[in-house]
Amino acid sequence: MLNTSYIGRFAPTPSGPLHFGSIVAALASYLDARYNKGKWLLRIEDIDTPRVRARADRKIVDTLEILGLEWDGDIVYQSDRLEYYRQALAALAEAGLLYRCFCPRKITRGKPYPGTCRMRTVQQEKPHSLRVKTPDRPITFDDAIQARQTGLLDDMTGDFILRRSDGLIAYNLAVVIDDAAQDITHIVRGADLLDTTFNQVYLQSVLRLPSPAYAHHPVVVDANGKKVSKQDGATDVLAGVSPETVLLRALRFLGQAPDPELAQAGKREILDWAIHHWKLDLVIERRADHNIDKF
Ligand code: GLU
Repeated sequence: MLNTSYIGRFAPTPSGPLHFGSIVAALASYLDARYNKGKWLLRIEDIDTPRVRARADRKIVDTLEILGLEWDGDIVYQSDRLEYYRQALAALAEAGLLYRCFCPRKITRGKPYPGTCRMRTVQQEKPHSLRVKTPDRPITFDDAIQARQTGLLDDMTGDFILRRSDGLIAYNLAVVIDDAAQDITHIVRGADLLDTTFNQVYLQSVLRLPSPAYAHHPVVVDANGKKVSKQDGATDVLAGVSPETVLLRALRFLGQAPDPELAQAGKREILDWAIHHWKLDLVIERRADHNIDKF
């Protein structure tokens, strides 16, 4: 029987084929959901159109199928859900939390937005992004892998963009709306998204949406310590490697110590073993030890 009090998800951006790092995220969220007898949903985050590659969604679906990672229900595409994001923007505008920003997007260069347009009284009809006002109180959430996190958005992003000047809806808004619409209770994903969680938890609070439980696993890095990413042309995880080998490597990366006898096993057997023996506690932050070549 499925446990409906656990609904997890994998939410890839179709910016390229799944690489080892994305498989780690898929597998960790899948195993945590299945171990808890929960549902595991698949959502394709295809609204950042400049990053989307043709047919990458199909390739992602094929890879998950080849690995035996079966999801529940229909695949949700964010591009079908733009109306819901617009409604959320309208609600935030109504609450006085949004403002037009005419600054170039690059103004922040990785630093918090200084709030230049927050106080602007005269509005202009020229292209603008929409930013949400952030509070001067800290945001706190508990992460099952990274422990309790507390931070001040003013020190991280400042007022952040929800709709870009080219009309694209920002990841932080879409993800919060969709996690709530799909009743997601548990999010397991890479620690590269840990910082965005502060933005997401804040949006959940102002939109009066529930906050899921979070667990951010260590990210896979290359020999130079750089995150392996689909956009940077990381290789397809299945290029010249069997699904069984990929699963075993991902399990080792996640600290799960697969039984040596699984070396001869098929993917279903490996996954069944992994579901049965899954221990989130073994996925610990081992810092510099995540070089892809070691697994
Ligand atoms: N779409 C994001 C990515 O591919 C992941 C979003 C999430 O898990 O919240 O990096």
